[in-house]
Amino acid sequence: MEYVDAFRDPALARAIAGRIRDRLKTPRTLMEICGGQTHAILRYGIEALAGPALTLVHGPGCPVCVTPLALIDHAVALARTPGVTLCSFGDMLRVPGSNGDLHAARAAGGAVRMVYSPLDAVRLAREDPAREVVLFAVGFETTAPTHAAAVLAAAREGLGNFSLLSALVRVPPALDQLLAAPDCRIEGVLAAGHVCSVMGTAEYLPLAARHRVPIVVTGFEPLDVLCGIERCLAQLDAGRAEVENAYARVVRDDGNVAARDAVAAVFEVVDREWRGLGVLPASGLAPRPAYARFDAARRHPCAPARAREPQACIAGEILRGRRRPDECAAFGTRCTPEHPLGAPMVSGEGACAAYHRYRVPA
Ligand code: SF4
Repeated sequence: MEYVDAFRDPALARAIAGRIRDRLKTPRTLMEICGGQTHAILRYGIEALAGPALTLVHGPGCPVCVTPLALIDHAVALARTPGVTLCSFGDMLRVPGSNGDLHAARAAGGAVRMVYSPLDAVRLAREDPAREVVLFAVGFETTAPTHAAAVLAAAREGLGNFSLLSALVRVPPALDQLLAAPDCRIEGVLAAGHVCSVMGTAEYLPLAARHRVPIVVTGFEPLDVLCGIERCLAQLDAGRAEVENAYARVVRDDGNVAARDAVAAVFEVVDREWRGLGVLPASGLAPRPAYARFDAARRHPCAPARAREPQACIAGEILRGRRRPDECAAFGTRCTPEHPLGAPMVSGEGACAAYHRYRVPA
């Protein structure tokens, strides 16, 4: 923990927070993209440290939260299909679909398996060739390489019973849409360090230039977040709008070239629906035609049904940074981590879960 503890040093945190408060002569609004950063902000009281002149808007950086209801309904339908084993990471099992979640599908007799790695699903396909094994692939660019590795492994082994239902998404198109909104109040952005550890920083250069906002690649420990904020504010004070890397111990400008190459070999960029943001051009990843046999959307198409969002849930507004979790009438009453109405209360990266866990009621 020594390496982690160094980035949680209370004295250093107070010193950086003091510099931030000194800089904040006028109110500023920044957005942190990633749900991991949101949890750090809530857990360590970073808003309170920075003072009332700073508003942090929580972005759409929780992949479980932005997965649209229609894809969850597709996964639930597959889980209920005889002969199919549906594999998913744990968070996704409890996210409500229109007609129940994957846990309910399992309770009703569906074959649902929780996996810790996409390669676990490949192993299940290898061990049980009589069953169709479908992996619910949920994540940002961070997890895309491991999903690509699973497809490449299945192809190498000639597995004919493995496919993935892709809900993989790319951050820059979503950020572009948020910054282009006429009522956008975001003056600076803390970009997600783990996404940039794979993709590098180049995709953010045109966004910073086009929207005239500083974008600082930021990590997840309290000192990382405070440094990201300070560097954003320094740019604003100097009238600059550049991409900076404040997570250099992990992120290189060109990212992880081998991981990017694997993703590019297996996946093509497609339009994808995001919960709360609608269909965003070029914001998703799906298997290329050469890997179509591993694409569950083609192998196991699902009759489109009318996806029904719970009326009380304002997840879309929260994911666009327009409202905060504690502005939701259901927060902490009808919607709790034990009985979630929406994905942001389920996921370990969800903003509603972070508020429920860390926010001290006023
Ligand atoms: S508190 Fe629950 S119902 Fe409200 S927005 Fe969050 S997930 Fe949806």
